[in-house]
Amino acid sequence: SALTAAQIREAFLQFFEERAHRRLASSSLVPANDPTLLFTNAGMVQFKDVFTGREKRDYRRATTSQKCVRAGGKHNDLDNVGYTARHHTFFEMLGNFSFGDYFKAEAIAFGWEFVTKRLGLSTERLAVTVFNGEGGIPWDEEAFELWEKQGVARDRILKLGYKDNFWAMGDTGPCGPCSEIHYHQGNDIPCVEEAAGRPCQGVACDCDRWLEIWNLVFMQFERKEKDAPLIPLPKPSIDTGAGLERIASVVQGKRSNYDTDLFQGIIGTISQLCGQPYSQETGASQRVVADHARATAFLVADGVQPSNEGRGYVLRRIMRRAIRHGTLLGLKELFFFKVVDRVIELMGDAYPELRESRSFLMEVAKHEEEGFRRTLDRGLKLMDEELARLQGQKVLSGEVAFLLHGTYGFPWDLTQIIARERGFDVDLERFKQLLEDEGNKGFAGSGQKAVGEIYQKVLERTGLTEFLGYEGEGHEGEGS
Ligand code: ATP
Ligand code: MG
Ligand code: MG
Ligand code: MG
Repeated sequence: SALTAAQIREAFLQFFEERAHRRLASSSLVPANDPTLLFTNAGMVQFKDVFTGREKRDYRRATTSQKCVRAGGKHNDLDNVGYTARHHTFFEMLGNFSFGDYFKAEAIAFGWEFVTKRLGLSTERLAVTVFNGEGGIPWDEEAFELWEKQGVARDRILKLGYKDNFWAMGDTGPCGPCSEIHYHQGNDIPCVEEAAGRPCQGVACDCDRWLEIWNLVFMQFERKEKDAPLIPLPKPSIDTGAGLERIASVVQGKRSNYDTDLFQGIIGTISQLCGQPYSQETGASQRVVADHARATAFLVADGVQPSNEGRGYVLRRIMRRAIRHGTLLGLKELFFFKVVDRVIELMGDAYPELRESRSFLMEVAKHEEEGFRRTLDRGLKLMDEELARLQGQKVLSGEVAFLLHGTYGFPWDLTQIIARERGFDVDLERFKQLLEDEGNKGFAGSGQKAVGEIYQKVLERTGLTEFLGYEGEGHEGEGS
């Protein structure tokens, strides 16, 4: 039978250990020394300074399974969750890294050997991409030839542009072309482009027919100043990232990450709680709850707490969105902590920090749901009344969004989602204006102090006071 996700994770790390890579632990979801980055969103984040040469390590090859969250900043997949088969807020990124050691030839050979030999994926279903040379930067002929040398057919090596196949740490710093490995899941999968009357874009398409499973970044240039010409790096480096959930889906012969063992256990618990079987067609709410329970468990274990500001506000938005989907599933009692508990049970072996903070995670989940449930129904009622009064106009006012936010605890994006479900938009400009008038910093917020006090009490009860240090530390920033 097919490998489990835990076996795939282990196989990956072992494969690279056997090839002289140091196996390192995932770093925290809260990036160390990087106030510009909201959450760790890729495996390379903990190695940023090693790539730039600012920091020296006693190894030149490393491999990790990195906890990632993409729910804000440059990479924001929050709105996709539940609706694509491949995007999560929290996911694990498997990676191998070379710090000025091996380069393209080995990276490509390792990647191809792992997917075709170790995982046994059929070459018939695989395609790779190389950078096409957009914007005056030379096209990656070297990578093209190296893929060909591995036996990849020429028509399965596709040239793509800057957006998909060029990577940069920021406006300045290391950068370079990349190659992505894609897996063909089938042409019978609906395509968003075809639905709009246009041809499917194949590997470059937004649909799920060709699934991107692995990205190999070839850091070979450096930009000293914004828009300055690229200078070749004397010692090029390698940074790769493969989504464990996506790899598991293709290895297990599933077309959705949610059908893998990583999610089925969690979804099983949700199904049981709400008494509804899971299906691809009707399961969007169950998928959202499952995804968001994972994000919640891992974020809280890494010291983030729901609040009205920065990282804590992103977490609150994730939690409240999940709780609202729970109510859509007909769940009338506190349920979210039970789903979070299931996540801990299923992921605690690989990530012991979950078990270590279990009682705290339970408290935080219960507390957030209790708080939100107190106002959720009344907030929804208010919203429906306001929408009914709008007659013809399709925009809910910033004032109502502000009231929902301040009095009913509706995060702005939740208000927006619910409004959109009913065919309305929200005047977010006015909403932001009102927040600022009230003396808040942008999307930061009212009630910060009160929230702090509530969590202080929770912390006193559970005795985990070290978590307090992170409150309100967040900054909305650009990811890598
Ligand atoms: P996509 O184009 O599908 O959004 P990406 O190009 O943004 O993916 P990368 O930044 O290249 O993704 O990240 C490396 C790998 O991490 C991807 O090849 C994919 O396997 C995985 N990955 C990226 N985003 C997500 C996500 N939101 N959920 C699950 N896996 C992801
Ligand atoms: Mg993406
Ligand atoms: Mg991509
Ligand atoms: Mg990519």
